[in-house]
Amino acid sequence: MQLKTKILKLDENNIDAEKIKYAASILRKGGLVVFPTETVYGLGADALNQNAVLNIFEAKGRPSDNPLIVHIADKDEVYKLMMDIPDDAIKLMDKFWPGPLTLVGKKTSSVPHSVTAGLDTVAVRMPKNKIALSLIKEAKLPVAAPSANLSGRPSPTTAKHVIDDLNGRVDVIIEAGNSDIGVESTVLDITLWPPVILRPGGVSKEQLEEFLGKVDIDPSLMEKNLDMLIPKSPGMKYKHYSPKAELVVVEGELSNVVEKINALVEEYKRKGLSVGVLSTEQTKSLYNGAVVISLGDRLEPKTIASNLFKALRDFDDIGVQLILAEAVDDKGIGFAIMNRMKKAAGYKIVHIS
Ligand code: AMP
Ligand code: MG
Repeated sequence: MQLKTKILKLDENNIDAEKIKYAASILRKGGLVVFPTETVYGLGADALNQNAVLNIFEAKGRPSDNPLIVHIADKDEVYKLMMDIPDDAIKLMDKFWPGPLTLVGKKTSSVPHSVTAGLDTVAVRMPKNKIALSLIKEAKLPVAAPSANLSGRPSPTTAKHVIDDLNGRVDVIIEAGNSDIGVESTVLDITLWPPVILRPGGVSKEQLEEFLGKVDIDPSLMEKNLDMLIPKSPGMKYKHYSPKAELVVVEGELSNVVEKINALVEEYKRKGLSVGVLSTEQTKSLYNGAVVISLGDRLEPKTIASNLFKALRDFDDIGVQLILAEAVDDKGIGFAIMNRMKKAAGYKIVHIS
């Protein structure tokens, strides 16, 4: 499928209503529109149009058993998509919407099975990005939108990433700068109580605990259980977020991590590989003989989250064959950062104490 992709440049602080109208008209006709959200760019289509939804899977090369998140612009829209919503879950929506929290609940019959990959639950979120909200409002539709990358690749946090992956595969790409958060939403299952985190993301476990008292974590997110458990969030079983280079995460005490990475750089360079190091500001000057990209200050995990996917794609552009990545603290948004980094590595992790 080769399409002529139209690129529309928009400014979140001064939204051009005509461009939004045009993009919304494409969604209403069943077309594919990539739009910015505060997490990552999303590849959107009319969530109630089975064919439009199937085109999302085709454009991304996404396996059909990996369900999509439905985006809404008004909290009340959730009732058309989800039923049996507990009162406490409504409080969660009031607290965290608009924002990077996706709730998984029992689906209504309006939601096509292609959206939920045959599951009887649906994932819904109200994004905060103003362009996303105006587009959904103007289209007057719930919009199904996974991340706007080719399946398996790092999620896009700039329009350039989207163009690299999806030019010619979608009708419209809205270009609107860098994503604020840079990792995807937290996916929370509210069919159980306390609710269960199926995917860590932009709203941290600590924030949810502060509000709910208790929140559970799907056991598949504990890496030691990886081989034993079938993840409940179906998308989590696929190779994800991966750069073309092999990625290895090194975790442990920081000075030992630096020493180990330097030793590995030496070892792999001797084997003739070009090596990259994913570092932080505190350590970037300590590596020798590798291309070093810093994710930012270790004490500013939000910056690290916003730079992660871009750094993985930058290593691809540079063309390194192996990336050695420093682990960061997994508190707060660090849980999402480490989840993505380890998945990108296919769970190749070196642990040194
Ligand atoms: P993406 O939008 O590409 O970040 O992927 C959406 C994520 O939400 C995937 O990890 C899905 O598995 C998850 N998801 C969507 N719908 C459901 C659902 N009904 N139950 C569990 N997880 C879901
Ligand atoms: Mg994705």
